[in-house]
Amino acid sequence: MTYDTQPNASHFVNGAPLEDATGDVIDVIYPATGEVIARVHAATDAVIAEAVAGAQAAQAEWAATPPRERGRVLTRAAQILRERNRELSVLETMDTGKPLSETLVADATSGADALEYFGGIAAGLTGEHIPLGRDWAYTVREPLGVCVGIGAWNYPTQIACWKAAPALACGNAMIFKPSETTPLSALKVAEILVEAGLPAGLFNVVQGAGAVGAALTTHPAVDKVSLTGSVPTGRKVYAAAAESIKHVTMELGGKSPILVFDDADIEDAVGGAILGNFYSSGQICSNGTRVFVQKGLRERFVARMAERMAEAVIGDPLDEATNFGPLVSARQMEIVTSYLEKGKAEGARLVAGGERLDRPGYWVTPALFDGVTDDMTIAQEEIFGPVLSVLEFETEDEAVARANDTTFGLSAGVFTRDLARAHRVIGRLRAGTCFVNSYNDAPVEMPFGGVKMSGVGRENAKAAIEHYSQLKSVYVRMGPVEAPF
Ligand code: NDP
Repeated sequence: MTYDTQPNASHFVNGAPLEDATGDVIDVIYPATGEVIARVHAATDAVIAEAVAGAQAAQAEWAATPPRERGRVLTRAAQILRERNRELSVLETMDTGKPLSETLVADATSGADALEYFGGIAAGLTGEHIPLGRDWAYTVREPLGVCVGIGAWNYPTQIACWKAAPALACGNAMIFKPSETTPLSALKVAEILVEAGLPAGLFNVVQGAGAVGAALTTHPAVDKVSLTGSVPTGRKVYAAAAESIKHVTMELGGKSPILVFDDADIEDAVGGAILGNFYSSGQICSNGTRVFVQKGLRERFVARMAERMAEAVIGDPLDEATNFGPLVSARQMEIVTSYLEKGKAEGARLVAGGERLDRPGYWVTPALFDGVTDDMTIAQEEIFGPVLSVLEFETEDEAVARANDTTFGLSAGVFTRDLARAHRVIGRLRAGTCFVNSYNDAPVEMPFGGVKMSGVGRENAKAAIEHYSQLKSVYVRMGPVEAPF
């Protein structure tokens, strides 16, 4: 079956597709085969200027639109995303290589959840009245202005919507730059928002690599930058934004721990670790790649994990029976295989998987390492691939200390039947997004984000509103002004 994946233009600016063929060519590759499935051009300075000017011009009118009308547009867009879920999921699969069995339930649908949630609460975003005796004050929740979203390649539709939905609900305009590896889906989100009634200029997509992201980040007319990406990129974008004191949200990488105690339900713990390591071929920021298993359970855990990993269906991502696809790019495959080599060289025991498949595309089978120690490279650095490390522990205190011994702090999970222990341990773990007897759930109702080097700010839930709006305080004097002279 062939799909039409070539967009009619590279960018979406001022409510319409926009092309500027003088920009550098970006080949879009289907990771399952290595074939070029589309070509877009990176944004030129002229495209960036047009997007920023259009966003600025449209934002003032949008901010003055009654919030419930803003919300209605977002809710309508959510409905269209759901109606077109299959078509959007196929495109997401072609763009990322993630199996259709995943994209059908985790990408456009997750984007729709965000649009629906923020569409629903737009009308309820209010300030407060502050009594001060005779005088009083009030606060007004105002938009920031023009926001820039910069996305990673693992969840292109979801990232675009998680940033656009709260930004637009609060009355901002957004310019979104997808990863150059996955430029296709955000264009669909833009099209759908306009179809749902979003006025021109409020959600723009410009393509390009880091240089385009950097040009947007430093643009004087931009008020906020929200990045989903790695820590090294986060450092650069945060520093660049600081030059002009822009607001930032940083959703960065992780090396998150999952703690499995002896009394855990072994099937749930293994299932949680599968979700936290192999979904999307392991290319998820919040993955629990350091699986600390208590001594009494470790051998059984590793054996059962290997058994369940043998059931992975690795193959054509467009076949809905497939549940494990390729890595996103040749570069990512090189990174993952180099970590596999390091793991073996440093003495970890490869129990299962970790093989590069001899076929076109970027295939590496899910890998399970046992006998991993805290000092090994695979226990310290984010791999962003299907590599699970099992580390043995004996006591709760030891597990907590070792789990926290990292510069990252995105997520953490605990598996135990002892709920008092679960909450005690979660209370001691330094991570922004935690799970008890579960892993990697990301409902829009729950704030998502990291501590330490994993990020600043939160996406989703009411918390995101704080990051896309600012308060104006107004003091109101009801009597005469008493001045000293
Ligand atoms: P990168 O950090 O390489 O890139 C992220 C985005 O930033 C891309 O669009 C990239 O452009 C752009 N970019 C690169 N340099 C600059 C710059 N100087 N100024 C502005 N923008 C720039 O991340 P990946 O795309 O490789 O994604 C993987 C990383 O993202 C992992 O570390 C993962 O943990 C993290 N991530 C975090 C999530 C979270 O919510 N916490 C969720 C998903 C992923 P381009 O790539 O086109 O060059």
